[in-house]
Amino acid sequence: MSTSTPLTLSVSNASPLLALNKIYLATEGEGINLGLPEILVRLQGCAINCRYCDTPAALHIKRPALPVKDVLGQIKTIGKGLRRVSLTGGDPLAKIQRPGVIALCHLLKEQGYRINLEAHGLTPVEEAQEVYDVVDFISADFKTPSGGKVGQIDLLRSLLAKYPHKLQIKSVIMDEKDFNFVLAAYRACSPWPLNVSWILTPAYNLGEALPQKRIEQIYRWNYLSGGNFRVIVQQHKLVFGPQRDDV
Ligand code: SF4
Repeated sequence: MSTSTPLTLSVSNASPLLALNKIYLATEGEGINLGLPEILVRLQGCAINCRYCDTPAALHIKRPALPVKDVLGQIKTIGKGLRRVSLTGGDPLAKIQRPGVIALCHLLKEQGYRINLEAHGLTPVEEAQEVYDVVDFISADFKTPSGGKVGQIDLLRSLLAKYPHKLQIKSVIMDEKDFNFVLAAYRACSPWPLNVSWILTPAYNLGEALPQKRIEQIYRWNYLSGGNFRVIVQQHKLVFGPQRDDV
């Protein structure tokens, strides 16, 4: 379990900084963009404190922040010809990071990059709007009870109303309580926009190689409740094993 994050990054409006965890080449392992190559930009720092955080190494800001132009330089060097960036964390929408994220997104767009944002879905939409408006795609979590934090229907409705043309919702499912929680939220947002996918990601317990039984149960709950969700197992865990976090 993670502990709360001391966000100590200082930011100058004139020269935005970013607390960077790491940048690396990856193949998208989740959701509707599964299999697409990308330059994964993982930022540092998150105060959400989910029970089963899958990126504990990115929770705390430990390294000196970098000017946005240096982060862009790293993206170009590491990405070579690739023009698809996935911004994730930690929390890329943390208030302390937002000026740097906005500046980086504008620079990337000027240079022809497509940007995918991985968001935890708990930031009020009006606070994150400047980032949401500039990115090409928003992948927002709707958190489930087993993780200790839960998604909020009003935030989900706001995202669906404002960004249905570039949005997917993702939820980690550990058990039937999680499934029923997302099903109730789905029904509360009826009619659901046809072009927005809601992805269910089967959870892994610590040390679990493949949660086959849980996957089968989720398939079944989905069949029996109207088949509203897309169930997608994280491909990177199948390929590299559940412990790797840099793929
Ligand atoms: S929002 Fe993401 S990075 Fe933050 S604690 Fe939850 S899983 Fe970890």
